[in-house]
Amino acid sequence: MPVLTRLIPSPLVVDIRPGALDDLACVLADERISTSGRLAVAVSGGSGAKLRERIAPTLPGATWYEVGGGTLDDAVRLAGDIKAGHYDAVVGLGGGKIIDCAKFAAARVGLPLVAVPTNLAHDGLCSPVATLDNDAGRGSYGVPNPIAAVIDLDVIREAPARFVRAGIGDAISNINAIADWELSNRVTGEKIDGLAAAMARQAGEAVLRHPGGIGDNAFLQVLAEALVLTGIAMSISGDSRPASGSCHEINHAFDLLYPKRAASHGEQCGLGAAFAMYLRGAHEESAYMAEVLRRHGLPVLPEEIGFTVDEFVRAVEFAPETRPGRYTILEHLDLKTDQIKDTYADYVKAIGS
Ligand SMILES: [Zn+2]
Repeated sequence: MPVLTRLIPSPLVVDIRPGALDDLACVLADERISTSGRLAVAVSGGSGAKLRERIAPTLPGATWYEVGGGTLDDAVRLAGDIKAGHYDAVVGLGGGKIIDCAKFAAARVGLPLVAVPTNLAHDGLCSPVATLDNDAGRGSYGVPNPIAAVIDLDVIREAPARFVRAGIGDAISNINAIADWELSNRVTGEKIDGLAAAMARQAGEAVLRHPGGIGDNAFLQVLAEALVLTGIAMSISGDSRPASGSCHEINHAFDLLYPKRAASHGEQCGLGAAFAMYLRGAHEESAYMAEVLRRHGLPVLPEEIGFTVDEFVRAVEFAPETRPGRYTILEHLDLKTDQIKDTYADYVKAIGS
């Protein structure tokens, strides 16, 4: 009997628990990712300094590289610096910008990347994409999935609450992204990868329905796992489809139209998802999403992140242009300004204030 199967591109190590960072060197040695201990560790100059002080003694063979920011130039510079050494792997230790720089640099020099995120702001921590600022604004660069994701919940608890909460919005928005994917499947015949969709949806549902908050480790564990699984779902489907639909188009529109004022990715995606679910007629799901986002202190109305209703309406109208070729509820309904305004008024009534 033939046994048909497929290999899933996934990290060798996923280690999510309090204190995980202290065992980093052992885990990398045990899994043969770094038997010599020679590691290039990318950290930020600011918040990374304290962590460096703490874990440097456990990584005697490491060379530390300070990364300035999250630009393509920073990433290219890091790759150039690393190239001169003999390393087993690159470790990205920090927030999204550091991890993305490290991902890009590791790919460029052909080394595996170990992602050690210090916050849970979005699902990029274990995804095959590096988002970097370039001369044209912001670009997404395809890179291999990290070979390991090590998330120390004790470190996460020390991150500013806003950077941890934001990930809740990004995880929950998976549910909206999958609804868009299914809509496109029905209308345009776009193929759905059922495994990728299942992983991304379950990740979103687990976070949506978990009764805890960012103050407790049980919730942080589920949130971190959800973000890792979402990244792997993107690797499986080969694009961001499992985690990015109309919610993300609205988020990109905020970034592009109001670059200096935009809120964080996860905050904008959560708000975008609650509104987009309402647009598609999933009113109960939208209201529940809004209730959960509120409970976690995340925005559900544009005013809560400093935008007027008109600015939000403009963002929703502009959103489809941010991802040409991606079919979502926004392209499907093709709403005019007044229709968006009216629906927004109904959404506000439905979620209550
Ligand atoms: Zn996202």
